[in-house]
Amino acid sequence: TYVITQGCIDVRDRACVDECPVDCIYAGSRMLYIHPDECVDCGACEPVCPVEAIFYEDDLPSDQAAYLKVNAEVFADH
Ligand code: SF4
Repeated sequence: TYVITQGCIDVRDRACVDECPVDCIYAGSRMLYIHPDECVDCGACEPVCPVEAIFYEDDLPSDQAAYLKVNAEVFADH
């Protein structure tokens, strides 16, 4: 899955939302989140993010690694 990280906080540009073919990027109160079970790993969202906040899970910078869990927990109940 792809993962949205800290750079999105209070930015929520939504360019990624327009690119996602399966509409699996959802808006939270301060940032956007990718539903890990719906993401098809197409990579379309990553290059359009103006703050480069989107990474493939295996390419997450170490200081952003916690966001894998953050994104997953947003959708833990649905
Ligand atoms: Fe959507 Fe593709 Fe980005 Fe996954 S990698 S969130 S499917 S645009």
